[in-house]
Parts: sequence; structure tokens; C-alpha cells
Amino acid sequence: MKVAKKIYIAVLLILVMMITFTACQNKRENGTHPKDATTFLMGTVVQMRVYGSNAQEVIDNSFTRLREIENEMSTTIVSSEISRINTHPGEDIKVNADTYRVLKKAVEYANLTNGKFNPAIGPLVKLWSIGTENARVPAEDEIKEALKLVNYQWIDLDDEQMTVMLEKQGMSLDLGAIAKGYAADEVRRIVKNSRVESAYVNLGGNVLVIGEKPDGTPWKVGIQDPRHNRGNVMASIDVRDKTLVTSGNYERYFEKDGVIYHHILDPDTGYPADSGLLSCTIITTDSFDADALSTSIFILGPAKGLELLEEIDGVEAMLITKDLGIILSSGIEGQVDILNDDFQLNGM
Ligand code: AMP
Ligand code: MG
Repeated sequence: MKVAKKIYIAVLLILVMMITFTACQNKRENGTHPKDATTFLMGTVVQMRVYGSNAQEVIDNSFTRLREIENEMSTTIVSSEISRINTHPGEDIKVNADTYRVLKKAVEYANLTNGKFNPAIGPLVKLWSIGTENARVPAEDEIKEALKLVNYQWIDLDDEQMTVMLEKQGMSLDLGAIAKGYAADEVRRIVKNSRVESAYVNLGGNVLVIGEKPDGTPWKVGIQDPRHNRGNVMASIDVRDKTLVTSGNYERYFEKDGVIYHHILDPDTGYPADSGLLSCTIITTDSFDADALSTSIFILGPAKGLELLEEIDGVEAMLITKDLGIILSSGIEGQVDILNDDFQLNGM
């Protein structure tokens, strides 16, 4: 063999080896080895799975951002902006863009649902204290008193100054039904800006998936069996680039004399919502809307809830009724796998 030919073959071999090595490395970076992380933030367990060489950095930045949002909006952190508003009724409180945006959206959903979704629910949440060691069934007159203060129309928002004022002493804001949705969208922004193509985020039932799994299949997201605590899945839904947000009676509750009292309260009765649903899952692109909608529809019930759904484009839902019926919106019928025969598929 001539020397030139030998050199040619050697160069070719080196090239092939380099290409194979790079391909393997890419595969390792993009695919086979995800980074998993779990922490406790915003009053819930936060899980992330991120694929990519910069996964750890993406996770760190996401958790930092979530902590920032929690510090702005938590009702249990005394220095939060929401706590400041709650403890200074009658005063214009300047807030930053995150809190303002979330409050704006919360009031928008309060208007859409005639106050069933109600960011001024604070006094009632405090009275029931569900999910804390002080949880109890309040007396009828205590409920009546608290309800007098649950009025979202007494929240004054000034778009120019970005200030918030509560009109009445004793009122208080609670963004527990919407802040996690906003936060999940913020995590998505961080993940996408870092050019990660595949990730899974779960903020205590607010699930968000970015792209598809590295093997090209959709993410399979489990739907909780509402008769049990976390961990029992009764269906799974195949999704790419979507959020799935569930509101359910099983998330936070206590039992007294055989009755379950859960954390989603009906501002018209003052009691846990009893609309015929055990859970409501919203499937769409933005978690912010999905979070507000899942709580709203859970309180409104199947008939009114589906009416509301029709007003909003690009939103799918899976509702579970008290008799274990499943109602699916038409856009996701083919993507849902029901894994438990106790549940029966009903029409819309
Ligand atoms: P979610 O799990 O998103 O459905 O939100 C439930 C949380 O929202 C509760 O733990 C309360 O903090 C708050 N909440 C309860 N009832 C209402 C309501 N009617 N409107 C808005 N937020 C509520
Ligand atoms: Mg919600």
C-alpha cells in the first residue's frame, strides 16, 4: 500500500472515531443520564428531572427562582409582599412584577367565575387551617363572620404604580391556588433559555413537561387516584411540551366524624367545595392558567366547569366525579390510558 493511501485511511479512521465519540458524548449529554432533584419549596415537594450537560445549573437556577417567588407570595413568611399587604389594610403597598402579575390574573379568574375562585379567601383559609395542626370544623357564626371579608372586589390594584390595597380591615389574600402555576411557568422559561430540550417538573401536583423524552416518546404523566393519598395512579396521559395541573380533595384534608374536609373552599358556603368532583386536571400550555382553572372548575363542578372551559381556547380537562366517572374533553381522548377498572369513562 502506498504511504499516501495509508495516511488517507488513517485520517479516515480518526475521523470516524471522532464522529462516533462526539455522537456518544452528545447522547450522554442530551439523553441517557438525566439529573434528578427534589426539594421542599412553596409549601410542597418540588421534583425536577433535567437532561443535558448543564442540568445541575438549570436545577439550581430554577430552585433559586422558586424560592424568590415563595418569598414574595407566601402567607406564612411574615416578610413576604402578600403578608405586608395583609397586615396593612387601607394602605397602597408597592409590589414587584411577580406579585402584581399573579394578583392581576387571580382577580381576572375571580371575575370569570363570579368569585368562586377568590384570592381574598384568606380569612376562611385561616379559620379552617386545613393542612396545619390547628385544622378544625369552625362554628357556623365564625364562618359567617369570615365570609363577610371574602370579597375580591375590595382588592384595589393600581397598574401604573403597581400597588395593592385591601379596602377592609381583616381581609387577607391567599394565592395558594395560582402561585405555583406562575412559578412552574418561570421554571419552564429558565429551562428553555438554557437550551434544555427535555425536562420534567412537578410542583406538588403542578406538572410541566418540556419537549419529549430523549428517546422520542411522549412523557407519561400519572393522574392520582383521588381516593388515596399521593402515589396511587389511576390513569396516565401522554404529553409533549404541556402542563398538567390537578386540584383534588385528597391533597390537603382532615377527617372528622367520618366526613372529609378538604382545602378548596367554596366562598358562597364557607365550607369545602362540594360540587360533585373528586379532582380536576387541566392540560394546556401555560401552568399559570391551568392552576387557576383547575381550582375554579373543581369548585364550579362539572356542568359549569365545562361551560367555562369552552370559553378558553387550547385547554383540555379530565374530571373525576364522585361516582368515579371520568369526563374527558375531546382533544385528549386518545391520549389517556385508564389503569383502574373502578373508573368509568363518561361522555362530555
Ligand atoms: P389548588 O390546589 O391549586 O386547587 O389550590 C388550593 C389552595 O388555594 C388552598 O390550599 C387555599 O390556599 C387556596 N384556596 C382555597 N379555596 C380557594 C378559592 N375558593 N379560591 C382561591 N383560592 C382558594
Ligand atoms: Mg390551582
